[in-house]
Amino acid sequence: MQLNTATPEQLRQWESELLSEYENLKQQQLNLDLTRGKPSSDQLSLSDALDGILKGDYTAADGTDTRNYGGLDGIGEAKALGAELLGVNGDEILVGGNSSLTLMYLSAQTAFNFGLNGPDSAWNKQEKVKFLCPVPGYDRHFSICEQLGIEMVAVPMLSDGPDMDVVEQLIKDDSSIRGMWCVPKYSNPTGIIYSDATVNRIAQLGNIASPDFRVFWDNAYAVHDLNSEFEELANIMEACRKHGTESSVLQFCSTSKITQAGAGISFMGASSSNLSAVKKVLSIQSIGPDKVNQLRHLRFLPNKEAVLTHMQKHAALLRPRFECVLKNLEEGFGGTELGTWEAPEGGYFVSFDCLPNVAKAAVKLSADAGVKLTPAGATFPYGNDPQDRNIRIAPSVPSVEELDTAMKVFVTCVKLASVQSKL
Ligand code: PLP
Repeated sequence: MQLNTATPEQLRQWESELLSEYENLKQQQLNLDLTRGKPSSDQLSLSDALDGILKGDYTAADGTDTRNYGGLDGIGEAKALGAELLGVNGDEILVGGNSSLTLMYLSAQTAFNFGLNGPDSAWNKQEKVKFLCPVPGYDRHFSICEQLGIEMVAVPMLSDGPDMDVVEQLIKDDSSIRGMWCVPKYSNPTGIIYSDATVNRIAQLGNIASPDFRVFWDNAYAVHDLNSEFEELANIMEACRKHGTESSVLQFCSTSKITQAGAGISFMGASSSNLSAVKKVLSIQSIGPDKVNQLRHLRFLPNKEAVLTHMQKHAALLRPRFECVLKNLEEGFGGTELGTWEAPEGGYFVSFDCLPNVAKAAVKLSADAGVKLTPAGATFPYGNDPQDRNIRIAPSVPSVEELDTAMKVFVTCVKLASVQSKL
């Protein structure tokens, strides 16, 4: 199917064939959901041993009774794991509750309202505050900016990370830029890993940006490799130390997609001055995190090596699902101009770019045929994909069989929407 060289008659012929295929698919009355990057029940069951693992022993390694109040930044053994996962020193880590997103929001709110370098550094002292947002990106990052009234500036995402020429130029030209979102490994949604050179350039931004500029380094997929090889991401904190910019980066991750998505533990890695500013605000909100859950996690996964071994079990469940998506994309669109995609080696998503002005229509057609996809545009600030091209596919939850059916619907809908857009 080559739309560019097709005659109107050919296009109408394709439309009628695709419409009849589409009507047949609709008859199946499907109810499938490819919207959110959630673990499947089988993945969640991999961590069932958490239940009852403490066997009545609630004492952390340093003697802390984890059932009681206190310990704002987490128990020692959990901090050691977080420091290992994020590649920071033992005094540069905080262990939180079940959500790293909460820690990101807390950090943004602290920087905005109270300042990470004292009250004069609060972003709200500025008339305008802007954030750089590599696109496509993660919608919940964008929601944090929207809620705080931070203006988002889209930056193109390349195959080795954000376009750093654009990032550096924007920062040099605009002193109101106070932050940048990054998902450096298996980026949501494109699945790419930032190259060493990109990590090194990001570590230098602190030398050209405002002293109150912070990179929000959301390493949500730090250990989420699909293959048995663990892909190393360059250590951002090490690079920052080299350039004297340790305070310019705030790192985050969690066990949401390692153990239980709603009942894991989260980590924040940052310089001790950043951490103490955040802890000051956190101490108003909470007397301490759920340390019992931290201890349960550490008994189950005592170190990074144990985490990586556990992640191989996730990979075994996820791999066939990703293979199914990629096979259907290749069969449907290989060698055509209808779509482009990356084959990720980890993470939770496949990012698909269709022809301009096709994504919204394709997502609507899919939904009407019983296959829910993330709303088109959600991967862009303000929900606005200016070219209306990007669709995020999240294959983790359905069975491989369901996924195969869903992808057949997806392929038909993209083709139909592409032909209709051309007509
Ligand atoms: N960051 C990214 C990039 C994600 O994709 C997700 C979940 O989809 C999260 C953060 C959420 O993390 P948590 O469950 O730790 O709040």
